[in-house]
Amino acid sequence: MSSVLIKNGRIITASDDYFADVFVEDEAVKLIGDKLKVQADRVVDAIGQYVIPGGIDCHTHMELNVGAATSSDDFETGTVAAAHGGTTTIIDFATQARGQPMRAALDEWLARAEPKAVIDYGMHMIVSDLPDRWLPDMDALVHEGVTSFKFFTAYPDRLMLNDATIFKAMQRTGENGGFVCLHAENGSVIDYLVQKLLAEGKTAPNYHLLSRPPETEGEATHRVIALAEMAHVPVYIVHVSSHLAMEEIRAARDRGLPVFGETCPQYLYLAYEDYADGSFEGAKYICSPPIREQANQEPLWQALAANDLQTVATDHCPFCMREGYKGLPKQKELGIGNFSKIPNGVPGVENRMHLVYQGGVVERGWSMNRFVEVTSTTAAKLFGLFPRKGTIAVGSDADIVLWDPNRKYTISAKTHFMRVDYNPYEGLTVDGSPSLVMSRGSVIFEGDQFLASPGQGEYLRRGTYMLP
Ligand SMILES: [Zn+2]
Repeated sequence: MSSVLIKNGRIITASDDYFADVFVEDEAVKLIGDKLKVQADRVVDAIGQYVIPGGIDCHTHMELNVGAATSSDDFETGTVAAAHGGTTTIIDFATQARGQPMRAALDEWLARAEPKAVIDYGMHMIVSDLPDRWLPDMDALVHEGVTSFKFFTAYPDRLMLNDATIFKAMQRTGENGGFVCLHAENGSVIDYLVQKLLAEGKTAPNYHLLSRPPETEGEATHRVIALAEMAHVPVYIVHVSSHLAMEEIRAARDRGLPVFGETCPQYLYLAYEDYADGSFEGAKYICSPPIREQANQEPLWQALAANDLQTVATDHCPFCMREGYKGLPKQKELGIGNFSKIPNGVPGVENRMHLVYQGGVVERGWSMNRFVEVTSTTAAKLFGLFPRKGTIAVGSDADIVLWDPNRKYTISAKTHFMRVDYNPYEGLTVDGSPSLVMSRGSVIFEGDQFLASPGQGEYLRRGTYMLP
């Protein structure tokens, strides 16, 4: 049993902003009040700091095999990196291979995560194969705390489901309380364009973007929203990269539909113009949907401010540029001479909070409440973790970050903790960063010291969604 009293902080939740002390005991928040008179094993002075709920990154891919390569962070290195940036929960994706029962996929992912994770983690299920006889498996997963499913309209060779299967799965989740996430790009058209470009000798990394025009994302987003409307279920569109897809979400929400959208730091900060020259350095920017022309960035920021988009997650899925980094095999280099062989994914789990704070609060004048909502609270609600996670309240897990608005931090691969040899935001200085991070009541990061050990994170059996 240990207790911590956090004094003099400015507490921020999605809805409140006030000065108070927070008393934490046995992993949870026990008391909140003005000038608390309690005995604690440790007193932390949070004067000048924001006291915020730990970040929730609801979209990560640790140790994900994508065919020829496996993402370079495992559940230890990836969660250590997350914690350094103020994220105390991730929701990763157990991924069903075709022909594999979903339960077996979940067991595989849990076996990877359990000995290694330093922060709490949940699992979504990526469904790539759904014969009718496996529909009851979805119900069983919901009962076991895997309450969200992700379907793909892209990657015909590995993951794509046809519209009827997506619709069938949506109807089933309407019955069992599950929540539907969609990767929305038109995979058939993309595959055709990839082959066409390669046949024309257009093999450099920048052709990745040209093989996935924004219309392929806008069309698929429109389509899956229509399927969800017919199935009478809410739908969450992951990694919205273009204004076209965002506008489909906004239009659906304006009609009153329970449609939600996530974007990622790479779509808010990076642009096609950064890799348009065709050099292989552009492989750093290859992810799907692609990093688009700069003109898409500001509409995405505005959509976040206006609640047309609701969350920022990372889709963290790092691959190294050079063979041999920390003993890792060839990754991005697999695509030299053929952009379609570049493993898709970028790192971000460590810097998400930095980047949203900088771009949202510092540069665009968002309230701290909106920052907390976008980085933590809404994900907790949609993915069945609220109010255990995503807020600071009596009874909630003591996942607490002291965010120092005066702690400048320069992002660099030289100092980051992600196991990857580059950082797409290299050299960017942000005005604020965490000074202390607590996971279920234990201080896991303080100053420059990391204090957690592998296996300390717990698997989260999630409840069913609550609409924010
Ligand atoms: Zn993803």
